[in-house]
Amino acid sequence: MNDAQLLRYSRHILIDEIGIEGQQALLDAHVLVIGAGGLGSPAAMYLASAGVGKLTLVDDDTVDLTNLQRQIAHTTARVGQPKVLSASETLRNINPEIVIAALQERVDEARLAELVLPATVVLDCTDNFATRHAVNRVCVAHKVPLVSGAVIRFDGQVSVFDTRAGTQPCYCCLFPQDQAFTDEACSTMGVFAPLVGVVGAMQAAEALKLIMGVGESLAGRLLLLDGLRMEWSSMRVARDPACPVCG
Ligand SMILES: [Zn+2]
Repeated sequence: MNDAQLLRYSRHILIDEIGIEGQQALLDAHVLVIGAGGLGSPAAMYLASAGVGKLTLVDDDTVDLTNLQRQIAHTTARVGQPKVLSASETLRNINPEIVIAALQERVDEARLAELVLPATVVLDCTDNFATRHAVNRVCVAHKVPLVSGAVIRFDGQVSVFDTRAGTQPCYCCLFPQDQAFTDEACSTMGVFAPLVGVVGAMQAAEALKLIMGVGESLAGRLLLLDGLRMEWSSMRVARDPACPVCG
């Protein structure tokens, strides 16, 4: 780390659990953020400001006026631009020292595997169950920890699915693939804007902790936020030995 980096990251380095070693681990890390919308915006902004050395952003969508109420990486002037390019510009302005790969594409499972393989941690910031399950399958197969977040209306949830040791549940243990979930899209259900900030920031926090190996991750726990009462609850999630993905 050079003098400018020591200054930029000094408030991290001051923390005993982080120090130079933890900050260096962040600089050496590569995080894959899938989705550059409500969750992906704050998550990627904190990962960039905190000095994660390489960020890959994937999203096939363009910025729409209806996104700006909550997707804080984008601006009014960038309506119509690809979200990954808009978000990259925001991230570069925050931290020009990191490497950002912006991929405007809709990824299938084979492409996901290519992207997940080199990643230290994956953040699922998407909003549909099919993609969430595909991301989970690839993360389990390649033993890459997955930080998952979701928000709808006034409800949020966040968890970590880290199956590297073979003891913790995967996303599919919690939400079986054959379960008849209907995608409650933001377009029809609405989203209370600050909640994606809360949950996205927590996803970034969990990713940074996993990279540095500090504290205890959310693996095996699902945090649920009731934004109307502003109450968190924590639910234990057990590994399903019969899970078709990780069992
Ligand atoms: Zn599983």
